[in-house]
Amino acid sequence: MADPDIVLLGAPASGKGTQGRKLAQELNLSFLSTGKQLRREVEAGSELGREAEGYLAQGQYVPDSLALAIALKWLRKATGGWVLDGFPRTLAQAQELDDFLKQRAQRMKAILLEIHTAELERRVRERRECVSCSWTGTREQAEEMGSCPSCGGKLVYRSDDNLQNFRNRHQAFVELTGPVIDYYDSSQRLQRVNGLGSVEAVFETVRAVCKGGNDGQAT
Ligand code: AMP
Repeated sequence: MADPDIVLLGAPASGKGTQGRKLAQELNLSFLSTGKQLRREVEAGSELGREAEGYLAQGQYVPDSLALAIALKWLRKATGGWVLDGFPRTLAQAQELDDFLKQRAQRMKAILLEIHTAELERRVRERRECVSCSWTGTREQAEEMGSCPSCGGKLVYRSDDNLQNFRNRHQAFVELTGPVIDYYDSSQRLQRVNGLGSVEAVFETVRAVCKGGNDGQAT
């Protein structure tokens, strides 16, 4: 059987990065977070980073051309199956991805992590991320461990994780990613997963969905 291709959809702080990295590791798939890649470009001061910087600072989506440049460049080089965290985020991006994938597009799965807004806001306040490998955990874990448990890197509060920025990103998710959800739903590629629960419990459901089962309930 061909390796799976998986797109993870969800509001900011719904757990896409955490679940995506675990899934890629477990199923031996390549992993791309367009958000993380954009933050890297900003830090490196590249031309793309300079174009993206203002959008990220305000919690707005970057223009489709920038997101597509990152994702398609990466996909051209990827071998085997993959997990995409945070791409596509607009209908135009989803359609471009389908064009790029051709027949392979039909067997791709889109997994939507569903979580209510109050929990998302709580997670944003608590979230800490490794500057090197983008491991993500809570403030409590960061204080306990002192450094990243995965690579020893520094754990920091993401600069775009303030509440107003979160609300802007959430609004963009509802308005611009809502049509992507409908698009995958209407082409029978969408799987909804309850994102509430421990990382392990949600992951069990995500993994089951990827392997074909799909009750979508984390326990
Ligand atoms: P994330 O790390 O997935 O939360 O993404 C952080 C930020 O990067 C988002 O709030 C957007 O500003 C930007 N971003 C990431 N992926 C995309 C995309 N596919 N399209 C537009 N903007 C994106």
